[in-house]
Amino acid sequence: MFDALSARFAKTFGNLRSKGKISSSDIDSVLDEITSALLEADVAKEVVDLFTERIGAQAAALLPTLQAGSNQAQAIFDVVNSELIKILGSEGRRIRFAKNPPTVIMLAGLQGAGKTTLAAKLAKFYKDQGNTPLLIAADLQRPNAVTQLQVLGEQIGVPVFAPEQGNGSGNAVEVARDGIAFAQSKVHNMVIVDTAGRLGVDDELMDEAIAIRNQIQPHEILFVIDSMIGQSAIATARAFEQGVGFDGLVLTKLDGDARGGAALSITEVLKRPIMFVSTGEKISDFDLFYPERMASRILGLGDVATLAEQAKKALNPETSAKLEEKFARGDDFTLEDFLEQLEAMANMGSMGKLLSMLPGAASMKKQIENFDESEIVRTKAIVQSMTPHERRDVKVLNGTRRARIARGSGRAVSEVNSLVERFSAAQKAMKQMRNGSMPAGMPAAMSGMPAIPASKSAVVHKKKSKSGNPAKRAAEERG
Ligand code: GDP
Repeated sequence: MFDALSARFAKTFGNLRSKGKISSSDIDSVLDEITSALLEADVAKEVVDLFTERIGAQAAALLPTLQAGSNQAQAIFDVVNSELIKILGSEGRRIRFAKNPPTVIMLAGLQGAGKTTLAAKLAKFYKDQGNTPLLIAADLQRPNAVTQLQVLGEQIGVPVFAPEQGNGSGNAVEVARDGIAFAQSKVHNMVIVDTAGRLGVDDELMDEAIAIRNQIQPHEILFVIDSMIGQSAIATARAFEQGVGFDGLVLTKLDGDARGGAALSITEVLKRPIMFVSTGEKISDFDLFYPERMASRILGLGDVATLAEQAKKALNPETSAKLEEKFARGDDFTLEDFLEQLEAMANMGSMGKLLSMLPGAASMKKQIENFDESEIVRTKAIVQSMTPHERRDVKVLNGTRRARIARGSGRAVSEVNSLVERFSAAQKAMKQMRNGSMPAGMPAAMSGMPAIPASKSAVVHKKKSKSGNPAKRAAEERG
């Protein structure tokens, strides 16, 4: 998503940066470029006009104040960035918890928008933060919606209130009402109500949503919208706003290759904040919405903040600490450690997604698309086919052992050889690094090689000469 838009922005600012002195006609052509890029990305015309008007006015005021030799293009870029953040809602809004629990969140939207999936994602997200959510299966229309929610609930360990099997029968208002009473009796502090959508906006859909709303008086109504539906997203959102009404939006399927216009238009048009985004079918493909991070992605600066957060979440602190200690002690990094690292990487989700958060990712689109996700799985299978002894000491891996490992993992002997070779080289590099000859934190994950803990450990036991001057020594020790 946004790849085409990011590439256009990158090109426009690349051109601008190549100019020594920026004139007002340069600004005009930047505005023209931005206009056509946004319209092509399906951004609503009214939003494009507003956006370029604001940038134009600020750039015109800024231009005479820019000194020759100063980074003029950067100043203009900063204006665009801050206006983009504004269009996206400035500050992300978060769920407001009710004074008297449970906090009731109702989901509304068209069929297939991703409500049921989202209900589970939200429940998992808030459960992980120490809440006790209950899911209510009040989509009694879409075939299998109730079962789907039950399966998801089981998967994430969240109870699902589902007295009706749905598939076109049962009373959704009663289910929602009874579900809230059940949540109160079981002291759940949060309730997420999945409701039925239809293929298009119609009276029946809206009447049911309104009846549920009136019955349960939710604290938050979230309108869930598929970002792949392009321009019609705005009309649908307007219909829901005028019908059931909503407090915030959730954009789903941001992982698709849609042009992304809805995301950029909806907040400005409807004056409602985007609160969450869904970026895939897996429960973990979900995040809070951060306007500044989204702007950064659109402008080709990547989303390093999210990347760092995901890495932190995926790495087990105990494993990392153990590895750091080992490293500091001077012990060898073994294939057992490598296996733990591979598992952490798998927890971080798709490599393609991670790589796409790097600055300049739009220009590496092809390479990212070609990244072979199964490489990690294959490597893991090879390491798992080794005995603990072999994992700790690859030197024992003779031809017979390698052939056995290849058979056990269903891979070719040449692949086992290649892994062992690469691993031994990495192990050697780490030894050198420990002696202070290479920087720590090598992003080995990218090359399928063991990651090195990015910490001070590389220098932990490097002897330092201490100053003979007590004041200087104290300063050194403080440092
Ligand atoms: P509902 O009818 O609104 O409850 O929609 P569902 O939750 O059943 O989702 C419809 C389809 O979209 C399912 O196949 C989901 O797996 C899929 N889906 C939901 N969210 C996402 C997302 O963010 N990205 C992708 N690629 N698929 C999604």
